[in-house]
Amino acid sequence: MNSAEMDFFQEIIDRSRRIVFFGGAGVSTASGIPDFRSAEGLYAEEENGLSPEMILSKSFFYLQTEKFFDYYRKHLLYPDAEPNAAHRKLFELEQKDKLRGIVTQNVDGLHRAAGNIRVYELHGNVHENECMDCGASYPMEAILDSEGIPRCRDCGGVIKPNVVLYGEALPKYVCIGAIREITNADTLIVAGTSLAVEPAASFIGHFRGRNLVVINRDYIPAETQATLVLRGDVAEIMGRIR
Ligand SMILES: [Zn+2]
Repeated sequence: MNSAEMDFFQEIIDRSRRIVFFGGAGVSTASGIPDFRSAEGLYAEEENGLSPEMILSKSFFYLQTEKFFDYYRKHLLYPDAEPNAAHRKLFELEQKDKLRGIVTQNVDGLHRAAGNIRVYELHGNVHENECMDCGASYPMEAILDSEGIPRCRDCGGVIKPNVVLYGEALPKYVCIGAIREITNADTLIVAGTSLAVEPAASFIGHFRGRNLVVINRDYIPAETQATLVLRGDVAEIMGRIR
């Protein structure tokens, strides 16, 4: 990314009134949360011959619940992670009434922690957990501080994180909201995601606006249609917006 590209990005932001930000793992790496699908990321690791996709699946959750939670605690929960410059800038843009919504594939809850209201969490959120029997709600700490299978204080049922597992459907009302925002956006910023995961990736096809901006470390196929491509770290680039 050079300064001319950054100036162009600033111009796009200044002229836009309905920005939607579509983000993936690369948005949270500066907060110390590893990038799921990158080469060094979480998905490159294998445990006992099981791929993370297998462990983080619906069937594994039901069949090997204890092993699921061992993995989940170790790899998906980051209690000390805090919003970075990208999250903070997006909050600022929402406050200025420029940003219409954030659609995220991340489950870390950092956009809400930064103060954003219109956040569409396609894959759920590690901070919301529910007893499968009585529906009681639990914070992330209930999972983090438990051993083995986390159980409900009231009824002894299994506490299940509100995170979409492989083999589970995306939350319908969240998808409808996300698609509505993308359809009405004048600028769509796609950041820190390779858009490799469906159906989330197909959401981009609903964009009818003027400017598609892609921010990513590596090439992604969607950038062939982009107005502007910014190569680099999402937090660093978003943090430079005035
Ligand atoms: Zn319960």
